[in-house]
Amino acid sequence: MKKFQDSLLPFLFENTPIRGNIVHLNHTYHEVLQHQTLPLILKQALGELMAASALLSATLKMDGAMVLQLQSKGALKLLVVECSSNLTMRATAKWSGEITDQSFLDLVANGQFVITLDPEEGEAYQGIVPIEGETIAEMLQNYMLRSQQIDTTLWLHCDGENASGMLLQKLPEQMLQTKPEHDADAWNRFNQLANTLTNDELQNLAPEVLLTRLFVEEDIRLFESRPTQFHCSCSKIKVASMLKMLGTEEVESMLAEREKIEVNCDFCNKQYLFDAVDAAELFNEKAVFVENSILKSNTAH
Ligand SMILES: [Zn+2]
Repeated sequence: MKKFQDSLLPFLFENTPIRGNIVHLNHTYHEVLQHQTLPLILKQALGELMAASALLSATLKMDGAMVLQLQSKGALKLLVVECSSNLTMRATAKWSGEITDQSFLDLVANGQFVITLDPEEGEAYQGIVPIEGETIAEMLQNYMLRSQQIDTTLWLHCDGENASGMLLQKLPEQMLQTKPEHDADAWNRFNQLANTLTNDELQNLAPEVLLTRLFVEEDIRLFESRPTQFHCSCSKIKVASMLKMLGTEEVESMLAEREKIEVNCDFCNKQYLFDAVDAAELFNEKAVFVENSILKSNTAH
């Protein structure tokens, strides 16, 4: 295993307001795919969106989750990636009909991008924008520029086995602690240099080597690399509260049809079963629904 697998390396260009990240998703990506069978084009799109979510999430000063959703009226209904501030992620896709030779643009026809920031403390924020651009990288660049007014460039690559990406971002001056020396050309220069990046280099070179190769004359400060990991935050308690929202009647009629209500998590495929006794407890205000193993694993984070 290469040292840089499943990790994200943050860096900045000294004396400029420009920073970046490089991410490699390997096992993290495989675990996401393990729970679902996707056509190759969706596998690749999901990998690119996962890489993008880690790159963008690492730029935020927020404890919580970022959810990127591509919703469309084309064959692809939904592509969703959730990435936490400690870079654990889960992802899934929904589509209808056969996906054979459609291009990615056909699949996302008349679609929209929904970006949700869900901080552990405070209100969630949601931005919805029409899809503009031909690739996931372009769509997110347009979103960042138009709705956040932050110059961001993304390079994303996924071959269906591994996903990787690089981000460059120009911080607005008001976000900087010290005013950088004047280097008006830096943003254009770094982007031009980075545009020589090939998919093969992005996927296979160690990030330190990649940066030296692309920006040979620039002064770059590297930060400590951060691990990425698959993690699904589903739990019996969350499924229970979803069933509770459906109401007594609906739950009872589901139970009349079959002995148990079966709910499968879209992200990890874990199965949750509710029988008549569980259902009665759902609507009994005094009962406390506890599932030890999951409570423990959640509180461990
Ligand atoms: Zn799950």
